[in-house]
Amino acid sequence: MTTPLMARIDGKRDDLIKLTQDLIRIPTLNPPGENYHAICDFLDKRLRAHGFETQLIRAFGTPGDSERFPRWNIIARRDGTSLGDCVHFNSHTDVVEVGAGWTFDPFGGEVSDGKIYGRGACDMKGGLATSIIAAEAFIEEHPHYSGAIEISGTADEESGGYGGVAYLAEKGHFSPEKVHHVIIPEPLHKDRICLGHRGGWWAEIETKGEIAHGCMPFLGDCAVRHMGAVLNEFEGKLFPAMAARRTDMPVVPEGAKSSTMNINSIHGGQKEQSDDFDGLPAHCVPDSCRIVIDRRFLVEEPLDQVRGEVKDLLEGLRVTRPDFEYKLTELNSVLPSMTNKTAPVVETVARAIQQVMAKAPEYVASPGTYDQKHIDRIGKLKNCIAYGPGILEMAHKPDEYIGIDDMMDSAKVMGAALEMLLLPAYSK
Ligand SMILES: [Zn+2]
Repeated sequence: MTTPLMARIDGKRDDLIKLTQDLIRIPTLNPPGENYHAICDFLDKRLRAHGFETQLIRAFGTPGDSERFPRWNIIARRDGTSLGDCVHFNSHTDVVEVGAGWTFDPFGGEVSDGKIYGRGACDMKGGLATSIIAAEAFIEEHPHYSGAIEISGTADEESGGYGGVAYLAEKGHFSPEKVHHVIIPEPLHKDRICLGHRGGWWAEIETKGEIAHGCMPFLGDCAVRHMGAVLNEFEGKLFPAMAARRTDMPVVPEGAKSSTMNINSIHGGQKEQSDDFDGLPAHCVPDSCRIVIDRRFLVEEPLDQVRGEVKDLLEGLRVTRPDFEYKLTELNSVLPSMTNKTAPVVETVARAIQQVMAKAPEYVASPGTYDQKHIDRIGKLKNCIAYGPGILEMAHKPDEYIGIDDMMDSAKVMGAALEMLLLPAYSK
């Protein structure tokens, strides 16, 4: 079925391609957080030309914010002609490092075979461009809508979102009195609705020993062997226990329906020698060994339990293993977030997918976290989903791309959702 709005979006195909290319060509690498002001300035001009009022907001004092790398964000708002709900599209403007293996220019925005290539094409400048085109087409088609449309471009999602959505949420920009529906156009695929994400807990574990001459290790105490015992407990107890847990969240891919843990790094003993030093190491028993763990947990697991089972295992070793000493340092934690399937934004976007693609949506949850955590926990706004074009598996990869047809379909879904949320005649 084609509606006047869909036909209007069809007419904006070249505009969508050009906008996506322009966004890719501003290299907003994070870290360190480059060109945030440049991309906000670009969005500011674009959206003001379409009747939006804009605010550029710097997240002063957040991690990484400096005069050289300021954390700039933009919020644009366009009020309708009568009161009603506010629909907010939130996209992060930062991209991760380029990495090796590219055959396209990572900041060229080249079009080939119906795809636009570049770092951030799918994650998530394509999604940002899609939401802008959807909003602009909607406003042209229905200038007398009720409520308001907001579009934000925010910093630092790839490094936790503290200089972006978290900061804005703390300042009240995502309070449920002000904003009613949030759509985050992350690349979850054009026919899927992402309801939320698993939680994360990051910690460092250090085992302690006593330094001695390596020829008489019995006079010291080897911290690396103590860490070996920790890893052994993980292998024998924690990993099997985590694998046996299954969530009711629709997490994709399948393996992430269980609890998981990555051991991020391990280091014990003398410092690693620099590449330009080819001398031999001295013979010492290491007195310290450290690992960093990255534990991802399910909505069914309380954070206290996640922490507690690691702590219990370490305490158990203190009882059974002579001279076992450890230090556990929590680095960060993020609680799981899960929007109810009957929330208004979920039901509306589901109806829009049905209208545009003549199929029911697939409901998913993300294995890793994204900015929904801050909108949920700090903003206290529960009516939030991730919905946008692109294939999640392409994110952070070489030759990252976004399909132009996928963006077009997604723009129509977003436009249809705006009609349902902001035009009384379309609400049922
Ligand atoms: Zn992303």
